[in-house]
Amino acid sequence: MEHVSNRSLFFENLALTSDFPMSLEIESAKGVFMYDTDGKSYLDFISGISVSNVGHGNSKVIEAIKNQAEKHAHLMVYGEFIQSPQVNYAKLLSTTLPENLNNVFFTNSGTEAIEGALKLAKRATGRTEMISFKDSYHGSTHGALSLMGNEFFKQAFRPLLPDVKILLTDSIDELNKISEKTACVVIETLRGEAGAIENSEEFLQELRKKCTETGALLIFDEIQCGMGRTGRLWAFEHYNVVPDILVTAKGLGGGMPLGAFISSTYLMKQLRNNPVLGNITTFGGHPVCCAAGMAALQLILSENWLHEIPNKEKFIRENLRHPSIKQIRGRGLMMAAELESFEVNLAFIKCCLELGLITDWFLFCDNAFRIAPPLCISFKELEKALQIINSALDKIR
Ligand code: PMP
Repeated sequence: MEHVSNRSLFFENLALTSDFPMSLEIESAKGVFMYDTDGKSYLDFISGISVSNVGHGNSKVIEAIKNQAEKHAHLMVYGEFIQSPQVNYAKLLSTTLPENLNNVFFTNSGTEAIEGALKLAKRATGRTEMISFKDSYHGSTHGALSLMGNEFFKQAFRPLLPDVKILLTDSIDELNKISEKTACVVIETLRGEAGAIENSEEFLQELRKKCTETGALLIFDEIQCGMGRTGRLWAFEHYNVVPDILVTAKGLGGGMPLGAFISSTYLMKQLRNNPVLGNITTFGGHPVCCAAGMAALQLILSENWLHEIPNKEKFIRENLRHPSIKQIRGRGLMMAAELESFEVNLAFIKCCLELGLITDWFLFCDNAFRIAPPLCISFKELEKALQIINSALDKIR
């Protein structure tokens, strides 16, 4: 049979979402490194966009996957059978969260978890208006897309959900647009695709106050910033604000597909009646994914990574003082470094790839690159990464 390269199959038979994919062919990955088919190594500085928080190929995660796969994979649609990987993981998650976030609905992905959270808010409040913020990203399905704070990526897919308002970020005046008509306000606790931008504590606290006053449910999207990325397990822990619904995914599955929206038992009960089966999924909370995710979370809770993150952030800030960098933003291992323009950033990212480091730009901020390695990165590996970044910046000057 004629040999057809994977590269040509990739371009011919796989539906792609841009004309300029990174098109690396990775054969294996371990820790913070990926290895391509020629054996070249790449230091992963983006963690598959906040997924590989515990690094690649962790033996505990692999063992959990193998053990569960040997016991059973899919048995029945979500919420019917008692499956120990689901209940154990839900219990563990609830022990890391405030009391009102004790009830976990597992999904397959982040966008699906957002959809569930929006439905829960509509059902629980009997209201329809939904609010989000400029340059927010919550997913690509119709509901989540309706809340995206960027018209460029939405316009071709209208009509989307009605009754959506997009507010300016970090403006306390804007919060007056939240009213008794509002079912929910959705916000990324730390804004990812806007370019790793923090919300101020004052703003988040005012937002909480306004939601409580009007009865709107506050939804924190921690799909990208949760699971330890900022140095706390949940980003909201930095700001002394607790949401009504927490949404998580990406790192939640330890490298396997898993999402969840988490709320109180009281609120979640609304999905049981009027109508019964208010949100259903076949594969949500797949037992193998829950087993992998639980192993990953146990690692995050037991290793020293969370404690080390503030020092890693400091180390990065101190060692990335290149004249080409205009600003470094973000918190913990969810940061962005801003360059002069998209063109400069593109040349820089290409140069990093040649030198063996993977980074990329943000959906709504194309002149900044991501600093988001696995949480387990050592200081030595970090030093190597920063050397590569500094020499790439030198080269493109
Ligand atoms: N919300 C945020 C903040 C995200 O970063 C993402 C993914 N980039 C999503 C939602 C959507 O998650 P998924 O791709 O798993 O559907």
